[in-house]
Amino acid sequence: MSASLKPEEFGPYHRLLKDLSDRLRGNVGRMTDEALRRNQNDSNLSNVPLHMADVGTENYDQEFTLGLIENEQETLKLIDEALGRIGDGTYGACAECERPIARARLEALPYTRYCIECARKLENPE
Ligand SMILES: [Zn+2]
Repeated sequence: MSASLKPEEFGPYHRLLKDLSDRLRGNVGRMTDEALRRNQNDSNLSNVPLHMADVGTENYDQEFTLGLIENEQETLKLIDEALGRIGDGTYGACAECERPIARARLEALPYTRYCIECARKLENPE
């Protein structure tokens, strides 16, 4: 079993989280603008699409974009929580079983709350 992370080892994960958070915040801003612009276009009657198929595509795109924003905001919440755990020194421990989360997993998913075993259990409850 790998030893748990020590606070002096948090640095690289802190940078990963900050990076990810900056990138997501940039994306969320841009995508929200785009979705809002489309809403305005939809209410502009001189700009009504000629074909019903176009309307369907527009709506689908918008729902898809808003769905992505939801996921990103969920991820941002997890990132903020992870940054909080770095702050109080509990980062790297599974929120479920309290065992250390594998470093490779933290590098791939620095905002994860669970070790791989618990994540699997939570995804596929028996
Ligand atoms: Zn666990």
